[in-house]
Amino acid sequence: MDAARRTEYLRAIGIDVWVPRVSGAAANGRTGGPERVAGRHGGPVAEPCPPEPFSGAAAWEALRAEVLRCTRCALHTGRTQGVFGVGNPRAEWMVIGEAPGAEEDRRGEPFVGRAGQLLDAMLRAIGLSRAENVYIANILKSRPPGNRDPLPEEVAACLPYLRRQIAMVRPRLLLAVGRVAAQNLLGTEESLSRLRGRVHRFGELNTPLVVTYHPAYLLRSPADKRKAWEDLKFARSVFRQMTTGVR
Ligand code: URA
Repeated sequence: MDAARRTEYLRAIGIDVWVPRVSGAAANGRTGGPERVAGRHGGPVAEPCPPEPFSGAAAWEALRAEVLRCTRCALHTGRTQGVFGVGNPRAEWMVIGEAPGAEEDRRGEPFVGRAGQLLDAMLRAIGLSRAENVYIANILKSRPPGNRDPLPEEVAACLPYLRRQIAMVRPRLLLAVGRVAAQNLLGTEESLSRLRGRVHRFGELNTPLVVTYHPAYLLRSPADKRKAWEDLKFARSVFRQMTTGVR
């Protein structure tokens, strides 16, 4: 991804990018300058998918059908529909959110409201898109009323579905957006600020997991978008380290 495009994407997120008037080596220096632009790889777009990461379309569709008819918790009585997930089930990145909101409940797709638009812009800035190379799912598949936090019994009922999705997609990296997703995936009550900036591990496959802010929070607190951008760069560097050995 070239510098101009990255700048355009960051501005779309709402991060003002300082563009120096000097050029060449000085502009690419580490101290005081703008974010160094990726070299050959603008992000994981160019990375090949690992062979056969996806356990099969039939099993995937069976799981989707199971989720859509699920009555394991009381949320099924108030939902328009279950929200299974969206994106490429062979993706090397998986983004995990909290639960569907009103718009997601109506459309049956995660992150399609304002927060979803911001999430898409954030992902685009590191070369990811739900149309191509990321899979997006939530901890809960049904909308909690009034967008309240998920109850422990709802998480207990629904998390096994997400675990199965993760086991089928076998992503190289999990990105948990927001406190609820991070705490429930990691089984911790540590604060989001303490969970950021570290590589955690999830599940039996020890999948690396990085934590960042929820885009809905960032809409309310735009000053923290810069920190979210640091998280995304950190996640990208962890991914690159794993896949190419280079940060
Ligand atoms: N917030 C989430 O955590 N997930 C969605 O799908 C929408 C909003």
